[in-house]
Amino acid sequence: MPRVKKAGLKTGNGSTVVEGMGKVVAEIKPKTTKKAKDYADFYKKYSHVVKGSVREPTKEDLKVLTKCHGRVCTIKCTDCGTERVINVQDAFQVTRCPACKVKAAKEARKARRAKKTKARKTA
Ligand SMILES: [Zn+2]
Repeated sequence: MPRVKKAGLKTGNGSTVVEGMGKVVAEIKPKTTKKAKDYADFYKKYSHVVKGSVREPTKEDLKVLTKCHGRVCTIKCTDCGTERVINVQDAFQVTRCPACKVKAAKEARKARRAKKTKARKTA
């Protein structure tokens, strides 16, 4: 473990720089300063996310979400196109609406089982 317990130095742009061994070893950027335009890469990476949909959760959003931590965004189901509100940090794994998710999981299970059965038969 590196001994980097020096108090962070505040920089002009609101981030905190952690120094150790005389040089900057880490820069901690405050989470709250991320602007909407900074999500350009996010939209590019996750094409199922509706562009410009990242926002602070509204009362309506909180009603449909079971858990909410931070910002939310709208996705379009990759199977049927239904819109769904999810947490931004779940975008990497949530690509379908609940109905299609269940269906896809069922089909994946079926495919897995078929493969297994085939393997057993050919063995
Ligand atoms: Zn769907």
